[in-house]
Amino acid sequence: MPSQPPAIDSRLLAALQQVVGKKQVATAPEERLSYAYDGSGREYPPAAVVFPANSDQIAAVLRLAGKYRTPVIPRGAGTGMCGGALATRGGIILALSRMTKIVEIDEDNQVAVVQPGVITAELQAAVRRHDLYYPPDPASRAFCTIGGNVACGAGGPAAVKYGVTRDYVLGLTAVLANGDIIHTGVRTAKGVVGYDLTRLLVGSEGTLAVIGEITLRLVPAPAAKQTMLLLCRDLLQATGLVSAILRRLTPATLEYLDRTALGLVADRLPTGLIERSQEQIGQNPAAMLLLELDGSPEEVAGQTRQLKEFLQDQQGVILHAAADHEEAEQLWAARRAVSPAAFKLRPHKISDDVVVPRSRIPDLVATAEQLAAGTGLPIFTFGHAGDGNIHVNIMLDRDNEQERRAAETARQAIYKRVLELRGTLSGEHGVGISKAAAITAEVDPASLELMKNLKKLFDPGNILNPGKIWGEGVRS
Ligand SMILES: Cc1cc2nc3c(=O)[nH]c(=O)nc-3n(C[C@H](O)[C@H](O)[C@H](O)COP(=O)(O)OP(=O)(O)OC[C@H]3O[C@@H](n4cnc5c(N)ncnc54)[C@H](O)[C@@H]3O)c2cc1C
Repeated sequence: MPSQPPAIDSRLLAALQQVVGKKQVATAPEERLSYAYDGSGREYPPAAVVFPANSDQIAAVLRLAGKYRTPVIPRGAGTGMCGGALATRGGIILALSRMTKIVEIDEDNQVAVVQPGVITAELQAAVRRHDLYYPPDPASRAFCTIGGNVACGAGGPAAVKYGVTRDYVLGLTAVLANGDIIHTGVRTAKGVVGYDLTRLLVGSEGTLAVIGEITLRLVPAPAAKQTMLLLCRDLLQATGLVSAILRRLTPATLEYLDRTALGLVADRLPTGLIERSQEQIGQNPAAMLLLELDGSPEEVAGQTRQLKEFLQDQQGVILHAAADHEEAEQLWAARRAVSPAAFKLRPHKISDDVVVPRSRIPDLVATAEQLAAGTGLPIFTFGHAGDGNIHVNIMLDRDNEQERRAAETARQAIYKRVLELRGTLSGEHGVGISKAAAITAEVDPASLELMKNLKKLFDPGNILNPGKIWGEGVRS
């Protein structure tokens, strides 16, 4: 186990056990180790893990943590990519895995009320049974939580047509650092009374409040869907096609994989597809676009026709339409496999989720290619091209000092280019600890000051997820 955090004060431990029950406070080394990691690949064991059952218990835990000046780190499923759920300063992991109730699905008003520990895919399946749809679909949806999605402002492929988590959160029950419970927002389609605290808390990464309940907007489930894959001879042509397609159609998703990403998952694609593209475009494809159209059957048929007509004039592009639901699932499974398959290239990964205006994707991808050639490291790009959100993956061996330095230089060069292209450093993963040092490059000094003051106002004792977003920058 890596460096040990200071042991928890025995009086605090006893008081926590009183609040949530003895069995809901874990302090054994193996239990703490289970909550020491997240998707960032780092490890920081907490002093204790506490499992509250409701917002009242969260409030009592926060009051105690304030009294004993102990950090509290809210945690959903621990799939975050930026170290947001790590106990970097020890303290208490507040694991929301017992709060998994779908409290209500209101069909008439198209609203769901859920506890934060509900798994995203389980909510999607539950509302689907009511012919409703909850669109935000991070690739981790089978195992991440709605609470984590709200705290990170998660997105997914469907963002191109439907938007991201933020666009579906109507209101929240949230617990402040002093134990006050607030109810933000509305459960109506509109509402403009007072400042929009809901939007402030979405994406706040557990640094301002703990989210105890979420009211979500739903939409009618689309009746039909068609999944299609485009294999392209030329990388820049593929990235250029993104804007061209979106000028003509509104696909539900428009994902992109470069040659390396495609190579990682090519064996998961329908048999014969890569061979067909070799015959038709004379080489292995340099990039792939994965596109889904949805709506009424007539809308889907019309848009499919339009797309095919448009592609007739595009040389070196192969269109493959999924024959049925199973094949569509196969294509999506290949797309979702890119991230884990990356470790075939190197044992470690620096994965960023930068966003650029989508017409500038070719510029960003060209920069990544140049950096790969210059450093000799595998650097590849894939992601949600429809909204300009590109995952730039720098693969390295962290035990190799030269690779570590080259990777960090490449990462800084990517950040610089993204900001030159008028993009943003994170579209969906957030800041956590991994981008804390970069925040000043994007946010102007006056806004930074305002944000830091908000953090101090919400959490004067700096107990809620300290060190996240702000690094060492906010101290009370
Ligand atoms: C294979 C893979 C694919 C992924 N694909 C995507 C993708 O397509 N799109 C995307 O956006 N992300 C993606 N992610 C990242 C991750 O799944 C998301 O950020 C997700 O929203 C995190 O949810 P979680 O429940 O795991 O949260 P955690 O990792 O547990 O926590 C994340 C942050 O939220 C805070 N938090 C969690 N719950 C609460 C709460 N109730 N109240 C206050 N703060 C809270 C934590 O303190 C932490 O700062 C992917 C990750 C993996 C491993």
